Amino acid sequence: MSNILNWPDYRVLQVSELEHDYQVHAEVAEPPRYCPHCNHSEIVGFGRRDEVVMDTPVHGKRTGIMLNRRRYRCQSCRKTFLEPVPHKDDKRQMTNRLIQYIERESLRRTFSGVAEDVGVDEKTIRNIFNDYCERLEKTLKFEMPQWLGIDEIHIIKPRCVITNIEQKTIVDMLDNRNKPTITRYLSKRTDRDQVRYVAMDMWQPYRQAVETMIPDATVIIDKFHVVRMANESLERARKAIRSALTPQQRRGLMRDRFVMLKRRHELTDAEYMRFSGWTRNYPEIGQAYELKESFFEIWDYMTRHQAQEAYYAWLRQITPDMKVHFDPLIKAMGNWHDDIFAYFDHPITNAYTESLNNLIRVVNRVGRGYSFEALRAKILFTDDFQKIKKPRYQRQRIPEGAMGRMPFYGVAETGPSTNYGAEISTLVRAIEAGRL
Ligand SMILES: [Zn+2]
Repeated sequence: MSNILNWPDYRVLQVSELEHDYQVHAEVAEPPRYCPHCNHSEIVGFGRRDEVVMDTPVHGKRTGIMLNRRRYRCQSCRKTFLEPVPHKDDKRQMTNRLIQYIERESLRRTFSGVAEDVGVDEKTIRNIFNDYCERLEKTLKFEMPQWLGIDEIHIIKPRCVITNIEQKTIVDMLDNRNKPTITRYLSKRTDRDQVRYVAMDMWQPYRQAVETMIPDATVIIDKFHVVRMANESLERARKAIRSALTPQQRRGLMRDRFVMLKRRHELTDAEYMRFSGWTRNYPEIGQAYELKESFFEIWDYMTRHQAQEAYYAWLRQITPDMKVHFDPLIKAMGNWHDDIFAYFDHPITNAYTESLNNLIRVVNRVGRGYSFEALRAKILFTDDFQKIKKPRYQRQRIPEGAMGRMPFYGVAETGPSTNYGAEISTLVRAIEAGRL
Protein backbone atom coordinates (compact mmCIF):
# COMPACT_ATOMS: atom_id res chain seq x y z
CA MET A 1 0.00 0.00 0.00
CA SER A 2 1.39 3.33 -1.06
CA ASN A 3 -0.65 5.71 1.12
CA ILE A 4 -4.00 6.06 2.87
CA LEU A 5 -5.73 6.62 -0.47
CA ASN A 6 -4.10 3.50 -1.89
CA TRP A 7 -3.29 5.43 -5.06
CA PRO A 8 0.36 5.92 -6.07
CA ASP A 9 -0.62 8.81 -8.38
CA TYR A 10 -1.34 10.96 -5.32
CA ARG A 11 1.30 12.21 -2.94
CA VAL A 12 -0.18 12.32 0.56
CA LEU A 13 1.40 15.15 2.56
CA GLN A 14 -0.47 14.80 5.82
CA VAL A 15 -3.48 13.05 7.32
CA SER A 16 -5.55 14.76 10.05
CA GLU A 17 -7.95 12.63 12.00
CA LEU A 18 -10.91 14.49 13.53
CA GLU A 19 -13.85 13.13 15.51
CA HIS A 20 -15.94 12.30 12.42
CA ASP A 21 -13.60 13.06 9.55
CA TYR A 22 -10.32 12.32 7.88
CA GLN A 23 -8.68 15.19 6.02
CA VAL A 24 -6.13 13.85 3.59
CA HIS A 25 -3.83 16.67 2.44
CA ALA A 26 -2.42 15.64 -0.91
CA GLU A 27 -1.18 16.66 -4.30
CA VAL A 28 -1.07 14.98 -7.66
CA ALA A 29 2.19 13.01 -7.86
CA GLU A 30 2.99 13.40 -11.55
CA PRO A 31 2.75 16.90 -13.02
CA PRO A 32 1.34 17.15 -16.56
CA ARG A 33 3.78 17.36 -19.48
CA TYR A 34 1.65 18.83 -22.23
CA CYS A 35 -0.83 21.64 -22.68
CA PRO A 36 -4.34 20.13 -23.03
CA HIS A 37 -5.27 22.86 -25.53
CA CYS A 38 -2.42 22.66 -28.03
CA ASN A 39 -0.33 19.69 -26.86
CA HIS A 40 2.75 21.87 -26.55
CA SER A 41 5.28 20.79 -23.92
CA GLU A 42 6.48 24.21 -22.78
CA ILE A 43 4.31 24.79 -19.74
CA VAL A 44 5.14 26.70 -16.58
CA GLY A 45 3.67 26.82 -13.08
CA PHE A 46 1.00 29.48 -12.62
CA GLY A 47 -0.03 29.20 -8.96
CA ARG A 48 -2.03 26.69 -7.01
CA ARG A 49 -5.60 26.24 -5.90
CA ASP A 50 -7.08 24.44 -2.87
CA GLU A 51 -9.89 22.03 -3.62
CA VAL A 52 -11.74 19.38 -1.70
CA VAL A 53 -12.44 16.09 -3.45
CA MET A 54 -14.66 13.83 -1.36
CA ASP A 55 -13.69 10.18 -1.20
CA THR A 56 -15.16 6.95 0.23
CA PRO A 57 -15.32 6.83 4.06
CA VAL A 58 -12.19 5.46 5.74
CA HIS A 59 -12.58 3.48 8.99
CA GLY A 60 -16.17 4.71 9.20
CA LYS A 61 -15.16 8.39 8.96
CA ARG A 62 -16.08 10.85 6.22
CA THR A 63 -13.02 11.40 4.09
CA GLY A 64 -12.04 14.34 1.93
CA ILE A 65 -8.90 14.89 -0.10
CA MET A 66 -7.66 18.44 0.56
CA LEU A 67 -6.01 18.88 -2.76
CA ASN A 68 -3.41 21.51 -3.47
CA ARG A 69 -3.88 21.60 -7.21
CA ARG A 70 -1.36 23.17 -9.56
CA ARG A 71 -2.24 25.62 -12.27
CA TYR A 72 -0.11 26.02 -15.43
CA ARG A 73 0.29 28.37 -18.31
CA CYS A 74 1.23 27.24 -21.78
CA GLN A 75 4.06 29.22 -23.27
CA SER A 76 2.82 28.55 -26.76
CA CYS A 77 -0.94 29.28 -26.69
CA ARG A 78 -0.79 31.33 -23.46
CA LYS A 79 -3.84 29.54 -22.07
CA THR A 80 -3.93 28.46 -18.43
CA PHE A 81 -5.16 25.13 -17.14
CA LEU A 82 -5.44 23.11 -13.93
CA GLU A 83 -3.60 19.84 -13.70
CA PRO A 84 -5.83 16.81 -14.23
CA VAL A 85 -6.86 14.97 -11.06
CA PRO A 86 -6.69 11.18 -11.38
CA HIS A 87 -9.71 9.09 -10.28
CA LYS A 88 -11.94 12.15 -10.04
CA ASP A 89 -15.47 12.28 -11.45
CA ASP A 90 -15.87 14.63 -14.43
CA LYS A 91 -18.96 16.35 -13.12
CA ARG A 92 -18.54 16.35 -9.35
CA GLN A 93 -15.94 17.11 -6.69
CA MET A 94 -15.75 13.44 -5.82
CA THR A 95 -13.64 10.42 -6.61
CA ASN A 96 -15.03 7.84 -9.02
CA ARG A 97 -15.01 5.26 -6.30
CA LEU A 98 -17.15 7.48 -4.08
CA ILE A 99 -19.69 7.79 -6.90
CA GLN A 100 -19.77 4.00 -7.20
CA TYR A 101 -20.09 3.65 -3.45
CA ILE A 102 -23.05 6.08 -3.36
CA GLU A 103 -24.73 4.27 -6.25
CA ARG A 104 -24.45 0.93 -4.50
CA GLU A 105 -25.37 2.18 -1.04
CA SER A 106 -28.37 4.23 -2.12
CA LEU A 107 -30.03 1.09 -3.47
CA ARG A 108 -29.82 -0.38 0.02
CA ARG A 109 -30.30 2.56 2.34
CA THR A 110 -32.10 5.90 2.56
CA PHE A 111 -30.58 8.89 0.79
CA SER A 112 -30.24 10.80 4.06
CA GLY A 113 -28.37 7.85 5.63
CA VAL A 114 -25.90 7.71 2.75
CA ALA A 115 -25.53 11.51 2.78
CA GLU A 116 -24.62 11.51 6.45
CA ASP A 117 -22.20 8.65 6.00
CA VAL A 118 -20.15 10.19 3.17
CA GLY A 119 -20.46 13.90 4.03
CA VAL A 120 -22.31 15.05 0.90
CA ASP A 121 -25.75 16.67 0.88
CA GLU A 122 -28.85 14.62 0.26
CA LYS A 123 -29.76 16.35 -2.99
CA THR A 124 -26.42 15.38 -4.53
CA ILE A 125 -26.97 11.76 -3.45
CA ARG A 126 -30.38 11.83 -5.12
CA ASN A 127 -28.91 13.25 -8.35
CA ILE A 128 -26.15 10.65 -8.46
CA PHE A 129 -28.77 7.98 -7.88
CA ASN A 130 -31.00 9.31 -10.68
CA ASP A 131 -28.08 9.30 -13.14
CA TYR A 132 -27.30 5.75 -12.10
CA CYS A 133 -30.91 4.61 -12.60
CA GLU A 134 -30.99 6.09 -16.06
CA ARG A 135 -27.89 4.09 -16.93
CA LEU A 136 -29.31 0.89 -15.44
CA GLU A 137 -32.61 1.38 -17.23
CA LYS A 138 -30.75 1.23 -20.55
CA THR A 139 -28.73 -1.88 -19.80
CA LEU A 140 -31.04 -4.03 -17.69
CA LYS A 141 -33.84 -5.87 -19.41
CA PHE A 142 -36.04 -8.38 -17.69
CA GLU A 143 -37.47 -11.34 -19.54
CA MET A 144 -41.00 -10.78 -20.85
CA PRO A 145 -43.18 -13.45 -19.21
CA GLN A 146 -45.57 -15.89 -20.85
CA TRP A 147 -47.89 -15.37 -17.89
CA LEU A 148 -48.06 -11.67 -17.16
CA GLY A 149 -49.75 -10.17 -14.12
CA ILE A 150 -51.02 -6.59 -13.89
CA ASP A 151 -51.74 -5.60 -10.33
CA GLU A 152 -52.24 -2.60 -8.16
CA ILE A 153 -49.98 -1.49 -5.36
CA HIS A 154 -50.45 1.58 -3.22
CA ILE A 155 -47.41 3.86 -2.93
CA ILE A 156 -48.80 7.29 -2.03
CA LYS A 157 -51.38 6.64 -4.75
CA PRO A 158 -52.36 3.54 -6.77
CA ARG A 159 -49.53 2.27 -8.99
CA CYS A 160 -49.30 -0.56 -11.42
CA VAL A 161 -47.05 -3.59 -10.88
CA ILE A 162 -46.14 -5.79 -13.83
CA THR A 163 -45.30 -9.31 -12.70
CA ASN A 164 -44.14 -12.64 -14.02
CA ILE A 165 -46.65 -15.11 -12.58
CA GLU A 166 -44.68 -18.31 -13.17
CA GLN A 167 -41.43 -16.92 -11.78
CA LYS A 168 -43.13 -14.85 -9.07
CA THR A 169 -41.07 -11.78 -9.91
CA ILE A 170 -41.66 -8.08 -10.55
CA VAL A 171 -40.85 -7.05 -14.08
CA ASP A 172 -41.69 -3.36 -13.75
CA MET A 173 -43.61 -0.77 -11.78
CA LEU A 174 -45.56 2.02 -13.46
CA ASP A 175 -46.39 5.42 -12.03
CA ASN A 176 -50.17 4.99 -12.33
CA ARG A 177 -52.77 2.53 -13.62
CA ASN A 178 -54.21 4.56 -16.50
CA LYS A 179 -54.65 3.13 -19.95
CA PRO A 180 -52.08 5.39 -21.71
CA THR A 181 -49.41 4.47 -19.14
CA ILE A 182 -49.92 0.73 -19.55
CA THR A 183 -50.26 1.01 -23.32
CA ARG A 184 -47.01 2.97 -23.51
CA TYR A 185 -45.22 0.39 -21.38
CA LEU A 186 -46.44 -2.51 -23.51
CA SER A 187 -45.66 -0.71 -26.76
CA LYS A 188 -42.05 -0.19 -25.66
CA ARG A 189 -41.69 -3.92 -25.03
CA THR A 190 -41.13 -5.23 -28.52
CA ASP A 191 -41.06 -8.77 -27.09
CA ARG A 192 -44.66 -8.45 -25.84
CA ASP A 193 -45.84 -11.20 -28.21
CA GLN A 194 -44.24 -13.66 -25.79
CA VAL A 195 -47.16 -12.97 -23.44
CA ARG A 196 -49.92 -15.58 -23.73
CA TYR A 197 -51.97 -14.98 -20.58
CA VAL A 198 -52.61 -11.80 -18.65
CA ALA A 199 -54.01 -12.01 -15.14
CA MET A 200 -55.55 -8.85 -13.76
CA ASP A 201 -58.09 -7.24 -11.50
CA MET A 202 -61.43 -6.06 -12.92
CA TRP A 203 -60.17 -2.68 -14.08
CA GLN A 204 -61.18 -1.64 -17.61
CA PRO A 205 -58.01 0.36 -18.48
CA TYR A 206 -55.91 -2.81 -17.95
CA ARG A 207 -58.12 -4.83 -20.26
CA GLN A 208 -58.28 -2.11 -22.90
CA ALA A 209 -54.50 -1.65 -22.91
CA VAL A 210 -53.97 -5.40 -23.25
CA GLU A 211 -56.56 -5.75 -26.00
CA THR A 212 -54.84 -2.95 -27.94
CA MET A 213 -51.24 -4.06 -27.50
CA ILE A 214 -51.39 -7.85 -27.07
CA PRO A 215 -54.63 -8.83 -28.81
CA ASP A 216 -53.76 -12.54 -28.92
CA ALA A 217 -53.27 -12.87 -25.16
CA THR A 218 -56.02 -14.38 -23.01
CA VAL A 219 -57.23 -12.18 -20.16
CA ILE A 220 -57.90 -13.96 -16.87
CA ILE A 221 -59.33 -12.48 -13.69
CA ASP A 222 -57.68 -13.92 -10.61
CA LYS A 223 -60.39 -15.52 -8.48
CA PHE A 224 -59.05 -13.64 -5.47
CA HIS A 225 -60.46 -10.38 -6.85
CA VAL A 226 -63.85 -11.95 -7.58
CA VAL A 227 -64.47 -13.70 -4.27
CA ARG A 228 -63.38 -10.56 -2.49
CA MET A 229 -66.44 -8.91 -4.01
CA ALA A 230 -68.64 -11.61 -2.46
CA ASN A 231 -67.22 -10.67 0.94
CA GLU A 232 -67.95 -7.00 0.23
CA SER A 233 -71.54 -7.89 -0.71
CA LEU A 234 -71.96 -9.80 2.52
CA GLU A 235 -70.65 -6.78 4.41
CA ARG A 236 -73.20 -4.51 2.77
CA ALA A 237 -75.98 -6.94 3.69
CA ARG A 238 -74.76 -7.28 7.26
CA LYS A 239 -74.61 -3.52 7.81
CA ALA A 240 -78.09 -3.03 6.36
CA ILE A 241 -79.54 -5.75 8.59
CA ARG A 242 -77.83 -4.31 11.66
CA SER A 243 -79.03 -0.77 10.98
CA ALA A 244 -82.63 -1.94 11.22
CA LEU A 245 -82.09 -3.37 14.73
CA THR A 246 -82.46 -1.77 18.17
CA PRO A 247 -79.21 -1.07 20.10
CA GLN A 248 -80.08 -3.94 22.40
CA GLN A 249 -80.56 -6.38 19.52
CA ARG A 250 -77.29 -5.18 18.02
CA ARG A 251 -75.43 -6.03 21.21
CA GLY A 252 -76.48 -9.63 20.64
CA LEU A 253 -74.47 -9.63 17.39
CA MET A 254 -71.05 -9.29 18.96
CA ARG A 255 -68.17 -9.94 16.51
CA ASP A 256 -70.62 -10.80 13.77
CA ARG A 257 -68.37 -9.38 11.06
CA PHE A 258 -65.44 -11.55 12.07
CA VAL A 259 -67.60 -14.69 12.22
CA MET A 260 -69.47 -14.08 8.98
CA LEU A 261 -66.35 -13.43 6.90
CA LYS A 262 -65.07 -16.86 7.88
CA ARG A 263 -65.67 -19.77 5.58
CA ARG A 264 -68.06 -22.37 6.99
CA HIS A 265 -65.32 -24.97 7.62
CA GLU A 266 -63.29 -22.39 9.54
CA LEU A 267 -65.97 -21.71 12.18
CA THR A 268 -65.27 -23.07 15.65
CA ASP A 269 -68.07 -24.89 17.49
CA ALA A 270 -68.73 -21.86 19.68
CA GLU A 271 -68.85 -19.53 16.65
CA TYR A 272 -71.19 -21.89 14.87
CA MET A 273 -73.54 -21.94 17.89
CA ARG A 274 -73.67 -18.15 18.03
CA PHE A 275 -74.13 -17.87 14.30
CA SER A 276 -77.07 -20.35 14.42
CA GLY A 277 -78.69 -18.22 17.08
CA TRP A 278 -78.41 -15.09 14.91
CA THR A 279 -79.92 -16.78 11.88
CA ARG A 280 -82.86 -18.04 13.95
CA ASN A 281 -83.63 -14.48 15.05
CA TYR A 282 -82.71 -12.74 11.79
CA PRO A 283 -83.08 -15.08 8.80
CA GLU A 284 -81.58 -12.47 6.42
CA ILE A 285 -78.23 -12.95 8.11
CA GLY A 286 -78.37 -16.61 7.25
CA GLN A 287 -79.44 -15.86 3.67
CA ALA A 288 -76.59 -13.42 3.07
CA TYR A 289 -74.08 -15.82 4.57
CA GLU A 290 -75.36 -18.71 2.45
CA LEU A 291 -75.06 -16.61 -0.71
CA LYS A 292 -71.48 -15.70 0.13
CA GLU A 293 -70.58 -19.32 0.88
CA SER A 294 -72.22 -20.77 -2.22
CA PHE A 295 -70.50 -18.11 -4.35
CA PHE A 296 -67.11 -19.19 -2.98
CA GLU A 297 -68.01 -22.81 -3.72
CA ILE A 298 -68.26 -22.04 -7.44
CA TRP A 299 -64.46 -21.86 -7.41
CA ASP A 300 -64.20 -25.44 -6.20
CA TYR A 301 -65.43 -26.79 -9.55
CA MET A 302 -62.89 -28.28 -11.90
CA THR A 303 -64.24 -27.19 -15.28
CA ARG A 304 -65.43 -23.97 -16.76
CA HIS A 305 -68.76 -25.53 -17.75
CA GLN A 306 -69.52 -26.77 -14.23
CA ALA A 307 -68.56 -23.45 -12.74
CA GLN A 308 -70.77 -21.51 -15.13
CA GLU A 309 -73.73 -23.80 -14.39
CA ALA A 310 -73.13 -23.35 -10.65
CA TYR A 311 -73.07 -19.60 -11.11
CA TYR A 312 -76.38 -19.54 -13.00
CA ALA A 313 -77.92 -21.70 -10.25
CA TRP A 314 -76.54 -19.26 -7.69
CA LEU A 315 -78.12 -16.32 -9.55
CA ARG A 316 -81.52 -18.01 -9.54
CA GLN A 317 -81.63 -18.36 -5.76
CA ILE A 318 -81.09 -14.65 -5.01
CA THR A 319 -84.17 -12.93 -3.63
CA PRO A 320 -84.87 -9.31 -4.60
CA ASP A 321 -84.01 -8.24 -1.01
CA MET A 322 -80.57 -9.79 -1.27
CA LYS A 323 -79.99 -8.66 -4.84
CA VAL A 324 -79.58 -5.07 -3.64
CA HIS A 325 -76.50 -6.03 -1.65
CA PHE A 326 -75.00 -8.43 -4.19
CA ASP A 327 -75.64 -6.20 -7.19
CA PRO A 328 -72.08 -4.90 -7.75
CA LEU A 329 -70.85 -8.50 -7.79
CA ILE A 330 -73.56 -9.58 -10.25
CA LYS A 331 -72.76 -6.62 -12.52
CA ALA A 332 -69.03 -7.43 -12.47
CA MET A 333 -69.80 -11.07 -13.27
CA GLY A 334 -71.76 -9.84 -16.28
CA ASN A 335 -69.17 -7.33 -17.52
CA TRP A 336 -66.23 -9.68 -17.07
CA HIS A 337 -67.95 -13.01 -17.67
CA ASP A 338 -65.49 -14.59 -20.12
CA ASP A 339 -62.40 -13.26 -18.38
CA ILE A 340 -63.64 -14.51 -15.01
CA PHE A 341 -64.51 -17.99 -16.25
CA ALA A 342 -61.25 -18.18 -18.24
CA TYR A 343 -59.76 -18.87 -14.83
CA PHE A 344 -61.09 -22.44 -15.01
CA ASP A 345 -59.24 -23.09 -18.27
CA HIS A 346 -56.00 -21.49 -17.00
CA PRO A 347 -56.00 -21.36 -13.21
CA ILE A 348 -53.46 -19.06 -11.63
CA THR A 349 -51.71 -20.65 -8.69
CA ASN A 350 -52.62 -19.57 -5.20
CA ALA A 351 -48.90 -19.36 -4.51
CA TYR A 352 -48.63 -16.42 -6.86
CA THR A 353 -51.60 -14.56 -5.37
CA GLU A 354 -50.32 -15.17 -1.88
CA SER A 355 -46.82 -13.92 -2.61
CA LEU A 356 -48.20 -10.84 -4.33
CA ASN A 357 -50.49 -10.06 -1.39
CA ASN A 358 -47.50 -10.36 0.93
CA LEU A 359 -45.63 -7.89 -1.21
CA ILE A 360 -48.51 -5.41 -1.23
CA ARG A 361 -48.71 -5.67 2.55
CA VAL A 362 -45.02 -4.96 3.19
CA VAL A 363 -44.65 -2.28 0.51
CA ASN A 364 -47.53 -0.38 2.10
CA ARG A 365 -45.43 -0.27 5.23
CA VAL A 366 -42.16 1.05 3.74
CA GLY A 367 -43.66 3.01 0.85
CA ARG A 368 -44.07 6.21 2.82
CA GLY A 369 -40.33 6.81 3.29
CA TYR A 370 -39.44 7.05 -0.40
CA SER A 371 -40.46 8.69 -3.60
CA PHE A 372 -42.04 6.26 -6.04
CA GLU A 373 -39.06 6.53 -8.42
CA ALA A 374 -36.58 5.66 -5.67
CA LEU A 375 -38.65 2.76 -4.42
CA ARG A 376 -39.08 1.43 -7.95
CA ALA A 377 -35.34 1.65 -8.60
CA LYS A 378 -34.51 -0.03 -5.31
CA ILE A 379 -36.91 -2.87 -6.06
CA LEU A 380 -35.94 -3.39 -9.69
CA PHE A 381 -32.23 -2.65 -9.72
CA THR A 382 -30.90 -4.15 -6.49
CA ASP A 383 -29.10 -7.14 -7.91
CA ASP A 384 -29.52 -9.31 -4.77
CA PHE A 385 -33.27 -9.30 -5.45
CA GLN A 386 -33.06 -10.46 -9.03
CA LYS A 387 -33.90 -13.96 -10.13
CA ILE A 388 -31.37 -14.96 -12.75
CA LYS A 389 -31.23 -18.23 -14.58
CA LYS A 390 -27.81 -19.20 -15.91
CA PRO A 391 -27.56 -20.73 -19.36
CA ARG A 392 -27.78 -24.52 -19.51
CA TYR A 393 -24.69 -26.44 -18.46
CA GLN A 394 -22.55 -27.36 -21.45
CA ARG A 395 -22.67 -31.16 -21.59
CA GLN A 396 -20.85 -31.53 -24.88
CA ARG A 397 -17.32 -32.80 -24.66
CA ILE A 398 -14.68 -30.21 -25.19
CA PRO A 399 -12.86 -31.37 -28.36
CA GLU A 400 -9.51 -33.09 -27.95
CA GLY A 401 -6.65 -30.59 -27.92
CA ALA A 402 -8.97 -27.57 -27.67
CA MET A 403 -8.25 -27.28 -23.95
CA GLY A 404 -6.03 -24.33 -23.16
CA ARG A 405 -6.21 -22.86 -26.61
CA MET A 406 -7.16 -19.22 -26.50
CA PRO A 407 -10.10 -19.13 -28.91
CA PHE A 408 -12.01 -21.49 -26.64
CA TYR A 409 -12.87 -18.68 -24.23
CA GLY A 410 -16.58 -17.95 -24.04
CA VAL A 411 -17.66 -20.84 -26.22
CA ALA A 412 -18.41 -23.15 -23.30
CA GLU A 413 -21.79 -21.64 -22.44
CA THR A 414 -24.81 -22.22 -24.62
CA GLY A 415 -26.56 -18.88 -24.27
CA PRO A 416 -27.05 -15.72 -22.25
CA SER A 417 -28.46 -15.73 -18.70
CA THR A 418 -32.13 -14.91 -18.24
CA ASN A 419 -33.06 -12.21 -15.75
CA TYR A 420 -36.67 -12.52 -14.59
CA GLY A 421 -36.70 -9.38 -12.45
CA ALA A 422 -37.05 -8.87 -8.71
CA GLU A 423 -38.10 -12.02 -6.88
CA ILE A 424 -41.13 -11.23 -4.74
CA SER A 425 -40.31 -13.57 -1.83
CA THR A 426 -36.73 -12.25 -1.60
CA LEU A 427 -38.06 -8.72 -1.65
CA VAL A 428 -40.61 -9.41 1.09
CA ARG A 429 -37.90 -10.93 3.30
CA ALA A 430 -35.61 -7.95 2.69
CA ILE A 431 -38.33 -5.44 3.52
CA GLU A 432 -39.29 -7.35 6.65
CA ALA A 433 -35.65 -7.33 7.73
CA GLY A 434 -35.61 -3.54 7.23
CA ARG A 435 -33.26 -3.77 4.24
CA LEU A 436 -34.97 -1.35 1.89
ZN1 LIG B 1 -1.10 25.42 -25.27
